[in-house]
Amino acid sequence: MPSSPDAAEKIRDKLVTGRLPDVGGIAFTGVGTREICDGCDSAILSEELEYELEARDRRTFRFHVRCVLLWQVYGRQRDR
Ligand SMILES: [Zn+2]
Repeated sequence: MPSSPDAAEKIRDKLVTGRLPDVGGIAFTGVGTREICDGCDSAILSEELEYELEARDRRTFRFHVRCVLLWQVYGRQRDR
């Protein structure tokens, strides 16, 4: 499933509530594993790219490529 149309809204909300960490950490990319995207709550299918992140607090997250870009944009805005 591609990134959800309301991904931006969901990701901003998760940053505010702390369900997503601020930008930073170690990232890996690979093919989707049909797991749910932590950004938009849609599955990342095997024909899509998955972006896996280990945050500074050791929690791991997975995203669609579009969702990781949105997370980086909104996470950085919060740093200011
Ligand atoms: Zn997503």
